[in-house]
Amino acid sequence: MTIGGVLTFNSLNPVNDEILATFPIFSQDDVARVVTSAAEAAPAWQSLGFHGRRKVLLAWGKLLTERIEEIASLISRETGKPTSDATLEVTLAIGHLAWAARNAREVLRPQSRKPGILMANMTATVERSPVGVVGVIGPWNYPIFTPMGSIAYSLAAGNTVVFKPSEFTPGVGVWLANTFSEVAPDDAIFSVVTGLGETGRALCESGVNKLAFTGSTRTAKLVAASCAKSMTPVVLECGGKDPVIVDHDADLKTAADFTLWSAMSNAGQTCIGAERVYVHEKVADKFISKMVELSKSIKPGAPGFGQYGPATMPKQIDIIESHIADALSQGATAVVGGLDSVKRPFVEPVILTNVPEDSKAITEETFGPVIIINRVKDMAEAISLSNQSEFGLGASVWSKKSGKSIASQLQCGMVAINSTTSFAAVPSVPFGGVKNSGYGRIHGPEGLLEFTYPRSLVQARFQLPISFTSFSRSAFGDRVIVGLTKLFNGRG
Ligand code: NDP
Repeated sequence: MTIGGVLTFNSLNPVNDEILATFPIFSQDDVARVVTSAAEAAPAWQSLGFHGRRKVLLAWGKLLTERIEEIASLISRETGKPTSDATLEVTLAIGHLAWAARNAREVLRPQSRKPGILMANMTATVERSPVGVVGVIGPWNYPIFTPMGSIAYSLAAGNTVVFKPSEFTPGVGVWLANTFSEVAPDDAIFSVVTGLGETGRALCESGVNKLAFTGSTRTAKLVAASCAKSMTPVVLECGGKDPVIVDHDADLKTAADFTLWSAMSNAGQTCIGAERVYVHEKVADKFISKMVELSKSIKPGAPGFGQYGPATMPKQIDIIESHIADALSQGATAVVGGLDSVKRPFVEPVILTNVPEDSKAITEETFGPVIIINRVKDMAEAISLSNQSEFGLGASVWSKKSGKSIASQLQCGMVAINSTTSFAAVPSVPFGGVKNSGYGRIHGPEGLLEFTYPRSLVQARFQLPISFTSFSRSAFGDRVIVGLTKLFNGRG
């Protein structure tokens, strides 16, 4: 649709397709203009220093806190999730914003390094410089929490940010930029460009100094390829197929309760949500019956009418349906729900057991309220099956005695032991994955470092009598350097 010569798109309520608002589609030229303004705003934002930026960011956090009901209601309307879930999401985002603001100075201050014996006349320091302008491309499943992991950490590190929200949640993105402009010295420090995938592509090609992407692995590869043309570095937070490992000594009641929530809340649209369970055969029947029992009280519905909402992105339901169908056709057992659970735009809880490891429901991200429970003979098998996946984002391990030893053998970026997804709520630990789940890290000190680059400064305190970096270096100088090398490195 075109309004006043500007191409636009609508944000819809996924429960009933009601049009919530209309937003402009930013063209390549529009994106370029916004990125240029962000680049112009960067030096002043950097020169505010950690203290000045902390003040602005904490003021923003205060504003978000004061208006928490307003943003939670908007998130709920754009995604269809219950307002209490949206409120929880906002509180987590505010926690990350405050942590980044308060800790940037300590994490990013210059560090002294030892210069080594041959360079003993030098001081060595590493300082961290902001990269400049960070482009952030966000998804729709957690439209404030997920991008805030890049936005807050980038801003605290001294960068300016241009954010492209998902086409399903543009209102949340625009609301974020509007509230920031109420406390910021310059609107261009954090701006939003709305649009579809093409606007995201334009941001990748706009000359931003770093691009932080959250979304599917497929689009992540397109983003990385676009950015490679201009050597723009990327942080990629992609999907997962997160395993839950339940050992024979686990607290089964809590494990079942938390796993069901992890798998079904937000309609299963959580990149770090439980997708498959490997449970020790000794306790499998008990665990499965607890999951089945608990799932009976869970149902989807519009906000206010269910524990979780609809699929925010309608086409996701085709994928969910195809995974259930594939698993069932290969001999899986549906102990809760099945293909009948799909009642567009909602999907009722589905629990599948004995699912073949090569079925799509195990190998691909389902991103719906579907959980697979497979029995294993021991924890070695659970670890091996968990690691067989192409993904490696998060995991959850339930065991009284062996939690840490199991966790340390998992090929993934984050593990919650006797808990679920809790690493996302701890701002001091990094968030990110390996394999097809992406690379780079947001959150924690690593998240601040990610949006800076190191600059090494090596300074001569005095000149040595023998110079090694001069054409006047003598044979004696050569003998000294070889002698010292043999002395310090020649003994193995
Ligand atoms: P995408 O990965 O396609 O979209 C994520 C973001 O990238 C959106 O803002 C999107 O814009 C943008 N985008 C799309 N195409 C391009 C492009 N060529 N260049 C730059 N940016 C682009 O995810 P979907 O929303 O289509 O969801 C698909 C699947 O992704 C889901 O089924 C789920 O498996 C996974 N997913 C994972 C998430 C996670 O947290 N890791 C979050 C969301 C989805 P626009 O929305 O306007 O198209």
